[in-house]
Amino acid sequence: MNDPQTPALAGMQRALAERVFNFSPGPAALPVEVLQQAAEEMLSWHGTGVSVMEMSHRSKEFEGILAETVADLRELLHVPKNFRILFLQGGAIGENAIVPLNLMRLRHAEQPKADFVVTGAWSVKTEQETRRYGEVNIAASSADRKFTEIPAVTDWKLSDDAAYVHLCTNETIGGVEFHEIPDIGQDQGRVVVADASSHILSRPVDWSRVQVMYGGAQKNIGPAGVTIVIVREDLLGHAHPLCPSAFNWRLVAEHGSMYNTPPTYAIYIAGLVFKWLKRQGGVPAIEQRNIAKAKALYDFLDQSDFYRNEIDPHCRSRMNVPFFLADETRNEAFLQQARANGLLQLKGHKSVGGMRASIYNAMPVEGVYALIDFMREFERIAA
Ligand SMILES: *Cc1c(COP(=O)(O)O)cnc(C)c1O
Repeated sequence: MNDPQTPALAGMQRALAERVFNFSPGPAALPVEVLQQAAEEMLSWHGTGVSVMEMSHRSKEFEGILAETVADLRELLHVPKNFRILFLQGGAIGENAIVPLNLMRLRHAEQPKADFVVTGAWSVKTEQETRRYGEVNIAASSADRKFTEIPAVTDWKLSDDAAYVHLCTNETIGGVEFHEIPDIGQDQGRVVVADASSHILSRPVDWSRVQVMYGGAQKNIGPAGVTIVIVREDLLGHAHPLCPSAFNWRLVAEHGSMYNTPPTYAIYIAGLVFKWLKRQGGVPAIEQRNIAKAKALYDFLDQSDFYRNEIDPHCRSRMNVPFFLADETRNEAFLQQARANGLLQLKGHKSVGGMRASIYNAMPVEGVYALIDFMREFERIAA
């Protein structure tokens, strides 16, 4: 045991053996390969003798990492040339203010207005923050159906003078997902802003239907700390004069996401995840895997009287699957035994109760099967 590498290697092997299936809604599981590569590169990135964390963001090394990360994201999501990819900070909740500050004056500088389709807790939070910056029109809401469905597009009461329509395209807490962004006159100039925090890169994007997409990275991309904004170029330059410069999309775009020091390490990890995604076969391949994972779990829930999911099958999320035990007095036992079986973070959001399995890109199919096996066994023993 006098090889100096041995303790480190043994530590790595022990840590690998300790890995569990982590169903956390966010910050969420990352691919093991990515974590291993980051560990290998931690002390010295590509022979530089420094960690990415310790590099100047102006160094040619980091500029290279940033450029490649942007290019890979553009390739993975087929982002058109006339859209800009920005890396900011502040998370999606920060964007709840940053979006109206950048965009709400698009039609009327003096009477800023935005339309909202409210499909769950996150769209509620966003529209409430937006009210600080202008008028909000609730075009449709499924609150009266406890956010178990998406209002039919024929019932959306959109206004003609709103700067944009806001959608939360995957409601992380409630488990509702838009499987298609409807045609609501985007080709006539209507602007759709999508909070895609919890399903970005899980499926392709139709860029004729979405003009601004944003999301925090910590669900499906990487560590918390970097916020991604993808915005059509002509929508830059409409910011309120009081919009902080570091959050002014036009300034950030002009400086290639380097107006201020970007969250360098989070961007680097996101870049490793993008490479991993490309090795998986890109977004179409990961989408197929996500469909299979979600189908296995929903099929299991649907055939059971012991568990249930309450979401309209047309808009069930592939990423976040809330479910309830018929006998809620068993909730604690369920969570405890799940933990004992290496299945973590299954407790539902406190506003919904019950359970929630978040099965993002990095959750392997085996993790979903392990969950189903555990649930079947828990049901059998309880019966
Ligand atoms: C997690 C989440 C947010 C909040 O993200 P923060 O990084 O905490 O700001 C907003 N919207 C959606 C859809 C989310 O899943």
